[in-house]
Amino acid sequence: MQSYSLFAPAKINLHLEIIGDRADGYHQLVMIMQSVNLGDIIHLRANGTDEIRLFCQNPEVPLDNSNLAYKAAYLMQQQFPKPAQNFGGVDITIEKNIPIAAGLAGGSTNAAAVLVGINLMWSLGLTQPELRDLGALLGSDVPFCISGGTSIATGRGEEIEPLPDLSDIWVILAKYSNLSVSTPWAYNSYREQYNHLYISDSHGINQRTHQVHSGNLVKAISQRDSRQIGSLLYNDLEKIVLPQFPTVKALIDAFKAKNVLGSLMSGSGPTVFALCDSQNQAELIALEVKQTINDPNLKCWVAQMCTHGIIAL
Ligand code: ATP
Repeated sequence: MQSYSLFAPAKINLHLEIIGDRADGYHQLVMIMQSVNLGDIIHLRANGTDEIRLFCQNPEVPLDNSNLAYKAAYLMQQQFPKPAQNFGGVDITIEKNIPIAAGLAGGSTNAAAVLVGINLMWSLGLTQPELRDLGALLGSDVPFCISGGTSIATGRGEEIEPLPDLSDIWVILAKYSNLSVSTPWAYNSYREQYNHLYISDSHGINQRTHQVHSGNLVKAISQRDSRQIGSLLYNDLEKIVLPQFPTVKALIDAFKAKNVLGSLMSGSGPTVFALCDSQNQAELIALEVKQTINDPNLKCWVAQMCTHGIIAL
C-alpha cells in the first residue's frame, strides 16, 4: 500500500523513579508506563519525491528536521536505503490531539508511529523488538510507545518488559496551557539535589529494579486492583517540579479532594493525571475541578487506559 494511517497513543507514568547516573549521561530509571487512548493520528503517504515532508495544523509542532516524526522517517531511509530508493519520500501528516511538551510523550509516539508505518508501507517485516531497537536510537520513550499497554521501563527508559494489561481505569489529564516544564531542567535539578542518593553499582541498580518488579504496584496491576494502583502512584520528579510550580501541586490536591483513585504528575510534567473507576465519574470530576480552580488556561481531557501502542487504522 502507498499510504497508512496510524493511531499513536499518549503515555502516563504510574511510577517514575530515578536510580542513578549512567555513563552515557542519561539517568538510570525504573518506570511503570501506561498507554492512554488520547492519541494523535499519523497519516503516511509515499509522495513520489525523495523528500520527507511534514504537515500539521498545530503551529506549535515544528515542521522541520527537528520533529521526531521526521527523524524517524530519516532513520528508516538511512537504515533501509534500497526500499527508501524504491518507494521514495514520504508525506507525514500529524493530527495533533496530545498536548505538546506535556510529559505525555507526544513527539515520541509520533516517531513510533512513523517507524511502524514505514515498516508496513515498505513491507520490511521488522518485528516489534527490532522496531523498538530502532526507536531507542530516536529517544528513550519511543520503544515503549511502539508496543504500549502497561510495561516496566528500565535503563534510560528504553528497556521494556510488559506487565498485565489494564484497560478498565479512566484517566483525567489536566494541563495549564500557559505552563511548560523543561524536561532537562527537571532531571538536572533532581541530580543537583538528590545526587547523594544515587546508586552507581550494577548490583545495587539491579536490586532496586527488582524491588519495583516484585513491589506492591506491580502486584496491584496484576490483580487489576484500581484502588491500590491509585494509592501507589509515585514520581520522583514531583519533588522538583511541585515546589517550583504551586499551581501543579494545587491541581493534584484538587483531584485528591474529589476522592479519585489517585493523582500524580506525569513524567516531568506539567500534566497531572487522576485515575477514576468510570467514565461518568471522570467527566464529572474533570468538570468540578475546572470549576473549583476556575482558570481559563486549565484544560482537561478524559481518556481510558489502553492495551496497545501504535496501531494501523
Ligand atoms: P516526553 O514525555 O517524551 O518528555 P513531551 O510530551 O513532554 O515528551 P513533546 O510533546 O514530545 O513533549 O514535545 C516536546 C518538544 O518536542 C516540543 O516543544 C516540540 O518543539 C518538539 N517536537 C518534536 N517533534 C514533535 C512532535 N512530533 N510532536 C510534538 N512536539 C514535537
